[in-house]
Amino acid sequence: MKPHKTEAIILHTFAARERDKMVIFLTPQEGKMKGWAYGARGIKSRFGAGLEPLSKVRIGYIEKENEEVVRIESLDLIRSLFPAQQVLVTSISATYIAETVDTFAQAHDPSELIYRLLDRTTEALLAGSAPMAVVTYAEIWILRLAGILASTRNCMECDGPLERPLRFDSTQHGFICPSCATRDAPLIANDVAAALDSLFRLSAGDFAEQGIPDHVLFQIRALAGSVRRDFLGHELKSFDILAGVIGSR
Ligand SMILES: [Zn+2]
Repeated sequence: MKPHKTEAIILHTFAARERDKMVIFLTPQEGKMKGWAYGARGIKSRFGAGLEPLSKVRIGYIEKENEEVVRIESLDLIRSLFPAQQVLVTSISATYIAETVDTFAQAHDPSELIYRLLDRTTEALLAGSAPMAVVTYAEIWILRLAGILASTRNCMECDGPLERPLRFDSTQHGFICPSCATRDAPLIANDVAAALDSLFRLSAGDFAEQGIPDHVLFQIRALAGSVRRDFLGHELKSFDILAGVIGSR
């Protein structure tokens, strides 16, 4: 039995057995993990509010050899999502981002960048950044960090620099130059391409500060959505709930 202590963000929990909870959490060094929180459903649970989704915590756990699920020993709250949960659209955006990260983060695959994406987007929502911009940011970046979406700088076929207008090959999930584009790869409007450039360059909070119009964000979300659905073979569970509050023109 090996004790560990690390920073983590709670992705979700579900009730298990009579008094316990199974906790899915993301850590910077070990990736996505599962742990038992014994007695977490009891009234006097020592885990308290630390088990709410998207809580940033310091988590102590014990790992047994050959067991996938660890035992959570202690939980100290670093940052609660509670203030952001008071606004419906922000709260649902947070849930959606958590599901996005949960879907693409791999178990025991240390991805500090994915951890940081979740940490910074949650922070931006808490700071009052526009939820639609933060959601767009998370949707594109998770595909990028999972290695599904290629960069907007170089052609995915020949690696040559990409000029404007940008072309997107939806069958190959990447941006492509005119000479490699075999079929009619759809052109991406220049304002959308420019917004994508700043999305790749800026932090979540700074991207939201740009005040990019909703119709541009919507086109970026549509692009991310087509790549994501193609890859997963289905849409995320909370997508429709989010569309209901954020609008889907
Ligand atoms: Zn090319």
